[in-house]
Amino acid sequence: MKSYIKTMYSRAYSDSIRETMKNRTTRPDAYDHNCFGYCTRCQTNHSLGLGNARNKALELFRELEQNKTIARSDNTLHEPLLSTDKLFSEARGKMFGVLECVTPDNCTRWLYSFSGQYNGSWLADGWVPPLFDVDVFRRINDPVERQIKTISREIGQAPTMSSSRLNFHKNRKKLSQKLMQEIHALYKLHNFRDETITFTDLLGSTMSKPTGLGDCCAPKLLNYAALSGLTPLSLAEFYFGRNNRSQSRNHGQFYPACSEKCRPLLGFLLCGADKKIKRHVC
Ligand SMILES: [Zn+2]
Ligand SMILES: [Zn+2]
Repeated sequence: MKSYIKTMYSRAYSDSIRETMKNRTTRPDAYDHNCFGYCTRCQTNHSLGLGNARNKALELFRELEQNKTIARSDNTLHEPLLSTDKLFSEARGKMFGVLECVTPDNCTRWLYSFSGQYNGSWLADGWVPPLFDVDVFRRINDPVERQIKTISREIGQAPTMSSSRLNFHKNRKKLSQKLMQEIHALYKLHNFRDETITFTDLLGSTMSKPTGLGDCCAPKLLNYAALSGLTPLSLAEFYFGRNNRSQSRNHGQFYPACSEKCRPLLGFLLCGADKKIKRHVC
């Protein structure tokens, strides 16, 4: 299992989109391994390069800057929940991803994703869905979230260092751990060998799983491609919005799929994709 989490690619890189637009011919080799993970079945790394997805990501970046919305259809252009304003507020920015795919009849198809939720929603037209059934997620998550909020209010009202306050803390922790387990059980990962597994199948039941596991752009895109009978060719991810608190994510920069949350999943998710690649003709 250690092989999953071992750092196999330490060369972190990022690249300013604006600089790239000035000098588009630059394409360091490192980009060819911007998305990869170790597959225990094949005992090798599977990977996906930036390829053509890079230019499509630049297009998406420009679109987001110009339109100031993530709406991908004319009738939702003015939907406030899709506005990019919030990405420049205290809530900060977000990763966006583009996946170049080929259909079984050899046509190119582009898939788009945002990391996590957008303004509290898992779904938006023109963007791939998460790795679980959103209705089931809500049924499980929402009542417990409300309970957790109530307990948080009670914690705020209880005297400091009191036993009631400690109990509230314990209850809240127990509830959120249980909720996290139940939510993780909803995630289904699909690969290009028509296999489906859960986080527990892949990572075991004892390994602690980071918050947001499976919610980044790359897993969403690859999972959706596998489910839709598409074969991935290239992938690009960039950050859009106010820099994150640790300053590790900056507006307008490309980043490889992350090592903490994505790499443990990518070996499985990419398995079988390389066998299916044919040159596309349309
Ligand atoms: Zn990630
Ligand atoms: Zn494999």
